[in-house]
Amino acid sequence: MVTKEQIVQWLQAFAAVLEQNKDYLSELDSAIGDADHGINMDRGFKKVMSQLASVADKDIGSILKTVSMTLISSVGGASGPLYGTLFLRAGTAVDGKQDLTDEDMVRLLQAGLDGVIQRGKAQLGDKTMVDALSPAVEAFQQSVVGGEGAIAAMQKAVAAAEQGMKDTTPMLAKKGRASYLGERSVGHQDPGATSSYLMLKSLSATVESSSEAIA
Ligand code: ADP
Ligand code: MG
Repeated sequence: MVTKEQIVQWLQAFAAVLEQNKDYLSELDSAIGDADHGINMDRGFKKVMSQLASVADKDIGSILKTVSMTLISSVGGASGPLYGTLFLRAGTAVDGKQDLTDEDMVRLLQAGLDGVIQRGKAQLGDKTMVDALSPAVEAFQQSVVGGEGAIAAMQKAVAAAEQGMKDTTPMLAKKGRASYLGERSVGHQDPGATSSYLMLKSLSATVESSSEAIA
């Protein structure tokens, strides 16, 4: 079970991780883009933090939809609409809920990924955030179907996202700014795949640490 408090803590943890990794993400983007991915994500989640208190008493779906609207209105790059769509679909999948079963978590993650794919039209192997998210969602779902709880399933999802992120390095970019570079995009890790890995790592760490506190 993942509680609303944990969802709020996750958003706070991800915002802090983005602040810490702002320069790193922008450096990755400087190799194959325009060096703003860290700036974009940090700006977006700072704005999310400023909105969070006003929606923290609402249901999880409303909170995630507020994150979406905030990202879409405050982040200019490709990542704004893409993460905005991820949070919109994730929120819609768990509308009205105050806490999430493991199956709800599967639907939340799957809906977020589907939203990114529909919005950005990227396929696996195109060197985008989809390359981190897609194996992670699959690993999470398989783990839950196999009877493992949310904590173990999230750890597997994070491991899959990390591998997916690393696998973007030899890929040729087919979507977004990096695709303009053609062959020169090869040999660099994708910034969006990296922020998606960090997002899932923050979620896993939050679910783990707050459950330990209860146990
Ligand atoms: P911009 O490219 O507009 O400067 P960012 O630098 O914030 O935006 O984000 C770049 C990241 O967005 C890329 O590393 C990639 O992971 C992701 N991205 C770009 N286009 C797409 C797409 N069509 N589908 C999925 N992800 C994409
Ligand atoms: Mg950029």
